[in-house]
Amino acid sequence: MVGFVSYKASLMPDLDRILVVLLTEYGPLCERCLAHHARMTLSQVAAALATLCQTVAVRVEHGECPGCEQFTQVFSLAKTHEDADGSRAE
Ligand SMILES: [Zn+2]
Repeated sequence: MVGFVSYKASLMPDLDRILVVLLTEYGPLCERCLAHHARMTLSQVAAALATLCQTVAVRVEHGECPGCEQFTQVFSLAKTHEDADGSRAE
């Protein structure tokens, strides 16, 4: 377990913590795959991701999900919020 993640995770509700662990170990993943792995509903995952974005840096991209091979929105953990914003010009 990475120190950054475990420190942040200790402050989180359970659902968020599960998503952090999944994204750390299996990310990037789409909402459907996260829901499948976490045994949560899609709406639970969406709600947890929304709060997670405010706690840790979550990168959202469009791409092929390695889990289900669908071209969709995939989520992964970024090291910083700057990193999560992607390649900014300046
Ligand atoms: Zn997927």
